[in-house]
Amino acid sequence: MIRLGLKPGREASVARRHPWLFSGALASREGDGSDGHAKIVDSRGRVLAHGSYSPESQIVARLWTFDGRIPDTTLFRERCEAARRLREAVLPAETTGFRAVNSEGDLCPGVLVDVYGDVAVLDLLTAGTEKWEADLTQAAREIFSPREILVRRSGSERDRGSVPQFTIHNSQPTNPPVPFTENGLKFLADVSSGQKTGFFLDQRDNRARLRALASGRTVLNLFSYSGGFSVAALAGGAVRAMDVDTSEAALALGREHRRANGFPVTEGDFVRADVFDDLRARVEAGESWDMVVCDPPAFARKRADVTRAARGYKDINRLAMRLVSPGGWLLTCSCSGLVSWDLFGKIVFSASLEAGRSFTIAARQGAGADHPVSLECPEGEYLKGLWLSRLT
Ligand code: SAH
Repeated sequence: MIRLGLKPGREASVARRHPWLFSGALASREGDGSDGHAKIVDSRGRVLAHGSYSPESQIVARLWTFDGRIPDTTLFRERCEAARRLREAVLPAETTGFRAVNSEGDLCPGVLVDVYGDVAVLDLLTAGTEKWEADLTQAAREIFSPREILVRRSGSERDRGSVPQFTIHNSQPTNPPVPFTENGLKFLADVSSGQKTGFFLDQRDNRARLRALASGRTVLNLFSYSGGFSVAALAGGAVRAMDVDTSEAALALGREHRRANGFPVTEGDFVRADVFDDLRARVEAGESWDMVVCDPPAFARKRADVTRAARGYKDINRLAMRLVSPGGWLLTCSCSGLVSWDLFGKIVFSASLEAGRSFTIAARQGAGADHPVSLECPEGEYLKGLWLSRLT
């Protein structure tokens, strides 16, 4: 365990139990951190916290306890158990795919667990939590009882200081996508090579709302990935849903999702294209859709990107707005944590001015309750969805 000494006057954030310790707050590093464990002490040597140590990261430690406890399998088991109880309380029926552990939001900084049916994916986001793989795997296995656990390491380079790796624990490797259900609909998670841990579980509530609104409507699903929004819309009685994405593998999974749920696969409804070009062509052609879903990847991953990202969000929303028929809807999303709800609202407003269209916000909806956000770490909130209604 390494001993990380704070500079005088740098205790405030730890005292507020913020789980991120920045390297700039450190006066000293003593001992060996190769087991991933860090003890945080103030300038007078008093122990303030324990956490996982990521030597190369700007967030040099993620803090797990503030009461002297050293993180171990018993603690991991307790935290997973608490996370499981929350899921049992909030998950809808017929839903076997969910985020089981959400990093800071479940007091497990740097650790995600996504469950898809009888397979769990443990995603270790930091160098420190990578060192705890054996104990974390054991705790997740005991609490979530999966047939198989896959381990991913998908944190940013900055955090891990190593290249992405991928290992599989247990039985045979899970190469085929893993089946699961969401609100009774059948989906597949591409756990081996898909984006995130294989599916965008965070959009469940928005998919449910789309399903409730889609009857008799046409739906254009931009940045569709594996077409989850389209399947939800078709289940709600949409007359047509079109997926647009650059990834052929994602579109292929989208076709499989429609088949699995008994919907026809019309080749013209899967468009491999850059959304920016595709939208310009559709606006040019004067297309009109009852519902447009716009869920791009995070345009801003660091603070320096925010201005450029804002321009990207504005451009894409301006074009998408032009396609929405009177009485129609635009669900527009941002998953950049650095773009706040307030800023996103302003960007979308300026897009509407440029588009010459008036919209009203009928609902704001982010990630579901299986993606809890710690009050101590509001940075954990990232997904924003604005339901914009074109009234006339
Ligand atoms: N809405 C999806 C998740 C979207 S993730 C869901 O609910 O499952 C973002 C997707 O955008 C990815 O599938 C990625 O392949 C795609 N993508 C990224 N840049 C793109 C671009 N310029 N044009 C089209 N698709 C893009």
